[in-house]
Amino acid sequence: METVVSGIRSTGNLHLGNYFGAIRNFVKMQHEHRCFFFIADYHSLTTHPTPGDLHRNVRQVLIEYLAAGIDPNAATLYIQSDVPEVTELYLLLNMNAYKGELERCTSFKEKIRKQPDNVNAGLLTYPVLMAADIIIHKASKVPVGKDQEQHLEMARTFANRFNRLYKTDYFPPPYAFNFDMELVKVPGLDGATKMGKSESEGNAIFLSDDPKAIKKKVMRATTDSGPERPGEEMSQPIENLFNLMRVVSSEDTLNHFLDAFNKATIRYGDLKKQLTEDMISFTKPLRERILELDADNQYLAKVARMGAEKARESAAKTVREVREIIGFKTF
Ligand code: AMP
Repeated sequence: METVVSGIRSTGNLHLGNYFGAIRNFVKMQHEHRCFFFIADYHSLTTHPTPGDLHRNVRQVLIEYLAAGIDPNAATLYIQSDVPEVTELYLLLNMNAYKGELERCTSFKEKIRKQPDNVNAGLLTYPVLMAADIIIHKASKVPVGKDQEQHLEMARTFANRFNRLYKTDYFPPPYAFNFDMELVKVPGLDGATKMGKSESEGNAIFLSDDPKAIKKKVMRATTDSGPERPGEEMSQPIENLFNLMRVVSSEDTLNHFLDAFNKATIRYGDLKKQLTEDMISFTKPLRERILELDADNQYLAKVARMGAEKARESAAKTVREVREIIGFKTF
């Protein structure tokens, strides 16, 4: 049995990228491994949410994790800020994280492009906090989407560096992992190669979107003027629509539209109608469960309490041992 850790930032509702890149795998793994899944609310502070939004978002992500099938009795499902031990490990790891390597991180470069007026130290050290989240449970496997590969590489660097520095093999190096296929990246509807929370309006389909919202977004998705002759190459926005179809539609449906594209007889309106329908049927049971959970505060509180207790036990043990390795001693 391996230890598995993964988290999702609490910066808003979960979308299909989170589902197919992460949660679907969590659900598959939860009964076979020692799993820790958390809601990364410390991480979300890099974007300065208001206190009201912070709590609302954490609650929403908790609901959506559960709606998507995480079983809090099988996995440890917890809120990052309920485990303050993480911040101590983060501080300790920061002492061996270098400015140059953090500045070279692609996601840091992207973030400073997106929020040039708020380039805070939390953004720079984001991969260190992420490493702390993972290695605090001594995890070897991290189910994440393809967009997170570089962060995982940094987590391995920090784990290995700690081991080298203190001449130990205490931390196992963590690896990105996908249950049954290669790492996926779900594209956006606006032509962007990634579906994401902080992308443009209309980029993402959220698990809680109602049919009307889904229809509006899909019908407005970016396309091109269509293939003029058979065998033409696909543009990025069209490839995105096909990749979305790959995750929510049947193989027959996908092949039908691929064939029409290759023969240059495709009508994007038909493809969008089909994609809308398939997205609605895919998200319907999730949306219903989200509404049910939203009305059950008592259950949510119980889940959060139980998760915090289990996660803290594991985290406190690691921090205790790490303090010893580093050389902190009580008099
Ligand atoms: P985030 O929403 O950035 O906090 O990401 C949470 C998890 O969802 C991570 O494991 C990501 O790899 C995954 N994820 C987010 N967006 C996508 C996407 N467009 N495609 C695949 N996985 C994604």
